[in-house]
Order: sequence, then structure tokens, then C-alpha cells
Amino acid sequence: MSKLKLASYWGAACGGCDVAILDIHEKIVDLSNAADIVFWPIAVDFKYSDLEAYEDGYIDVCLFHGAVRNSENEHIAKLLRQKSKVMVAFGSCAISGGIPGLANFKKKDDIFARAYFDSPSTQNKEKVLPVPVLQMPEGEIDIPEFYKDVKCLADVVDVEYYMPGCPPTSEQIWNVVLAIVTGQLPPAGSFVGCEDRALCNTCKRTKTDKKIKKFVRPHEIIVDPDLCLLEQGLVCMGPVTRAGCGNQCTGANTPCSGCYGPLSGVVDMGAKYISALASVVDADSPEEADKIISEVLDPAGTFYRYGLPGSLLRRAK
Ligand code: SF4
Repeated sequence: MSKLKLASYWGAACGGCDVAILDIHEKIVDLSNAADIVFWPIAVDFKYSDLEAYEDGYIDVCLFHGAVRNSENEHIAKLLRQKSKVMVAFGSCAISGGIPGLANFKKKDDIFARAYFDSPSTQNKEKVLPVPVLQMPEGEIDIPEFYKDVKCLADVVDVEYYMPGCPPTSEQIWNVVLAIVTGQLPPAGSFVGCEDRALCNTCKRTKTDKKIKKFVRPHEIIVDPDLCLLEQGLVCMGPVTRAGCGNQCTGANTPCSGCYGPLSGVVDMGAKYISALASVVDADSPEEADKIISEVLDPAGTFYRYGLPGSLLRRAK
């Protein structure tokens, strides 16, 4: 039987998904026995021309990390789609925009002004900005076009599977690799490497249905290691977040920030979490409710931390 052909690529991403793959440690040897890596620019010396030379459908499974921020991300996503039988949106950036997607709270001009003019470490007296084509003595240089909005992978190509996490845990990655090499992937369109229940269902902390009079940040209290973090006033996204991470954050006294994304059936994670928060607030009047909720710092950035481009809002209006 011929070995599977696997590809891995990053669009707009931090590289954490690639590190998580490498974190399968010595199992990488088992992986190389079962599959050939035919494209993985961050780890192996492949060029775009290698990818272009493959026949269509040559790659069995492509793990695509990262959001689509610019024209290069979109071009390679489309090329990989053409060359791959199965496309996996790997990690929260590919699925719903992830941390890079927070840029949709700003306009392109604001982002460029901050990056190229205003940041304390920038020296740019001539006010130079990137241009799509630059003529240099050595020849013409193409610079990818920076899009107005960050997009999800499924906004530009068809996707068969979604593997959540920022990044997905190495244990879950290995489970999915095993499913791939043994041909046991679920039907196309499924989420893989996760559970279809809320993180609260896998959390060992004690819940008492206590209501909240005040929201706090972790440094403001001594966190009880056994009690539900939300009931201690910490903004924990567990009620609306898909389980599968092994409760690594809540197990370390840190509230869930929602990186595994919303449960299936949740149309908009931020809206759903606002509803979850409202149900735990202990207020005697609308004014008191407003005061308690106003203590949540940066609600939009917190509730849409990993998924603004994939939400109903998509961007700041
Ligand atoms: Fe655990 Fe957070 Fe859910 Fe509380 S809200 S049970 S701490 S996941």
C-alpha cells in the first residue's frame, strides 16, 4: 500500500499549530512511517514551485493553519485545495480567523498607520507604505496585497474537516493523524480532534449555581483551585466552548478563553456568551446589572477573541 501524502501550511498564523504538530515528539517517526510529508514549508525545504508541479489531487490530506489575511494566503489556499483530496481547517485561525481576526475591529488604514507610522519602534520619516509591485535595481518585487478584512479558510475554499484549538493539543492531533492513516475520519463537514459538548462538562471544578456580584481579573483575587472560575467572578468561556483541550487552562487556575470555539449549534459565540453571563449575574435592578457587566474588560475582544471573522458580526461596523 502506498504511503499517504500529507501537507501542512500556514497562512496568517503565529506558528503555534506547527509547533503543536512537532510536539507529538517521537510519534513523528510513526507519522513518517505512515505518511510522506510532501509540503510543509516551516519544517521542510519545499518551494511553491514544488507544490505547483504536483498533479491535482496529489496530496491526500492538507492541514491548513492560519487565517486568510492577504492575497498570498488566498493564492496558496486555492493552490493547496486544487492539489489536495481533503482539506482540514486546522486551528482556530483557519476555522474562524483566530487572534489575527481581531484586526477586523480596525480598518486597514488604522492598522497601517499604527504599524508603519505610529508605533514607538517605527522610524519612517518618508511615510513609506507597502505597494503591490516595487521596482528595484534587481528587478520587480511583488508584495502580497493586504486585504481589508481577515477571512476564514472556508471563505475562500471548500473545507472537509475542522480541527479547533489555539493550537489543537498534540494529543488530539495524534488522534486525528491516526484517524487519517487508518481511514477512519468521520463524514466530511465534521469537527475532529474535539468533543461536541461544553468545556464545563469536562471541568472538574465544583459548581454551586452561585451568582456573581462582581467580575474580576485573575490577578485581583486568590483563585480557589476547586471552585468554578466563573462563580468566582472570572470570565470563563467554558459554558459556550467546545471541549477537547483537556481543560489545560481551567486546570491551571486560568479561565477558558474560548480557543476551541463554539459548540455546534451556536451561531455566534459572543452573543451566546453574553446570554450565559447574563444568567449568572446577581442584580436587583437593570442599573446594577449594567454596573456588574461593565466590569468585564474589553467584552468584544474577549468574547470574539478567536472568531470575529467567523461570527455574525465579521468585523466592527
Ligand atoms: Fe469549569 Fe469554567 Fe465551566 Fe466553571 S465556567 S465549570 S471553571 S469550564
